[in-house]
Amino acid sequence: MNSNACAIVILGNGSLATARRIQHIYPDAVIHGLAGRVEGADRVYSDFGALMRQLYQQDTPLIALCAAGIVIRCLASVLLDKGAEPPVLAVAEDGSAVVPLLGGLGGVNVMARQLGAGLGVAAAITTSGELRFGTCLLNPPSGYALGDLELGKRFVSDLLAGEPVRIEGAAPWLAEARLPEDEHAQLAIHVGCTAREPSANELLIYPKNVLVAVDAGLADIAGSVRAALHDARIALPSLACLLACDTQMANPALRDAARELGVAMRFAAPAGSVRELAERAVPQLLPALGVSPQLAIVVAKQPLDVAHIGRERGRLAVIGLGPGAAELMVPAVKAELARANDILGYETYVRMAGPFRPDQVMHCTDNREEMQRARHAFELAAQGRSVVVVSSGDPGVFAMAAAVLEALHESSDAAWHNVELEILPGVSASLATAAQAGAPLGHDFCVMSLSDNLKPWDIIEKRLDLACQADLALAFYNPISRSRPWQLGRALEIVRQHRSPKTPVVLGRDIGRPGQTLRTITLGELTPEQVDMRTMVLVGSSTTCAFPRAEGGSWVYTPRWYGQKP
Ligand code: SAH
Repeated sequence: MNSNACAIVILGNGSLATARRIQHIYPDAVIHGLAGRVEGADRVYSDFGALMRQLYQQDTPLIALCAAGIVIRCLASVLLDKGAEPPVLAVAEDGSAVVPLLGGLGGVNVMARQLGAGLGVAAAITTSGELRFGTCLLNPPSGYALGDLELGKRFVSDLLAGEPVRIEGAAPWLAEARLPEDEHAQLAIHVGCTAREPSANELLIYPKNVLVAVDAGLADIAGSVRAALHDARIALPSLACLLACDTQMANPALRDAARELGVAMRFAAPAGSVRELAERAVPQLLPALGVSPQLAIVVAKQPLDVAHIGRERGRLAVIGLGPGAAELMVPAVKAELARANDILGYETYVRMAGPFRPDQVMHCTDNREEMQRARHAFELAAQGRSVVVVSSGDPGVFAMAAAVLEALHESSDAAWHNVELEILPGVSASLATAAQAGAPLGHDFCVMSLSDNLKPWDIIEKRLDLACQADLALAFYNPISRSRPWQLGRALEIVRQHRSPKTPVVLGRDIGRPGQTLRTITLGELTPEQVDMRTMVLVGSSTTCAFPRAEGGSWVYTPRWYGQKP
């Protein structure tokens, strides 16, 4: 089942009333309205298809108030590379029809029924098993796993053909289904964690009630866990999580093993032995099995609530949003934003990174409080939360990644060092601007921030002078601001000592954002008034050239060769 808050996407004001009725059914839902067409939505978007694909890829349940065909057409390109598929529904804008389209295993029919009940219409359920039995046997609730989907489909079609069924083991949710139960039936649903081959007429459902505690020193952890479960005759799908001592939190072998086994990795305070570690973490145990000094298996009577076993290793990702446009954000960053509990950053960038679910906490701060923000991020992550620190462009280019590493370097807190830290790159403003202009950075170039907030102006002048002497193309970040009014003028004086007034200059402002502008001028024409703090300044080298572009404006490029053309 998908637990993310859903998105209600509408195209016109006429749908707002129905959207509000749906929001009454799902109070966490966020209404997205088309810019210029909808007034009073929670969020505004400008490209319907891009928004739908983004939300779908973030595993957000989608309720679109428009024709089913429109939804299908705009999601078509992302349907094949599915991981988990969120529920997707089309609802008539007057609320008169509810059509579940995708996400059968993510609970779309459950949502369709809830919506139907709330709107007073029948949901257009087309899944035969559900129609007959009122539940999807192939989609057991969380805490249970289906043995084999293909066998399951055959099993359900036998049931649909009228066969009775018997239920072995505890399956509380099946009590509500309208199954044709008969204790002598040939078909059986078997619920249990014992490893066994399903017999011909059997649907196996595994409760996730097994925990394995391990020591990180164990060789081939995933392989050892599999072997130990096999020896104990426990089915792998019943494994709910691995548990280790929290002093071993940063050990990559544990993370890799949990990933390989597809289960959560949890940590608890040190205990006398792995067996004790396991037994302390799990309530209502059956006796421990398969115990060795480095591995212990415990089986609980009920499926385990993994979120309440020990705690998770915290995660801190420093991400780059790219210049602004959603298409220029790397998929790893989108995935990170979707999993985050906390999002920290300068308010403008945090808003740009959204929309966020109501369960996600935004911590917006002033742009200058970088070290404080970095420390706050570690404090949150050290509690086991998944934290994202947002930068525009690339986080390693005059942005948060270095501040975060500096905070960690200065800290002797083991909990901070145990956080899983990852830096995820983005398209930096110089590269986004260069791409729009052509290839002004097509040869060697130098990237500089003209801000003297954190470095002496002397060193900026010196580097600039040397970069010009070396005939590098130049990319200026932070070219000017209200508190730094004269620096750009002085920098241009230095550049003009080395470069001809004809040298091409590219000014990119708000690239990849609404209202972006791109201008190509020459060094002779450039004045500081043309530049503000949202501008990227690219200055060519002696070989950079420009030529007219058929659609207007010009292409700028720096050839790959230097000196004589080869
Ligand atoms: N980490 C960011 C840079 C932060 S420094 C990156 O990699 O892009 C901030 C400076 O970057 C601004 O003063 C401006 O010069 C430039 N900048 C950032 N985003 C921009 C955009 N969308 N268009 C033009 N310049 C931008």
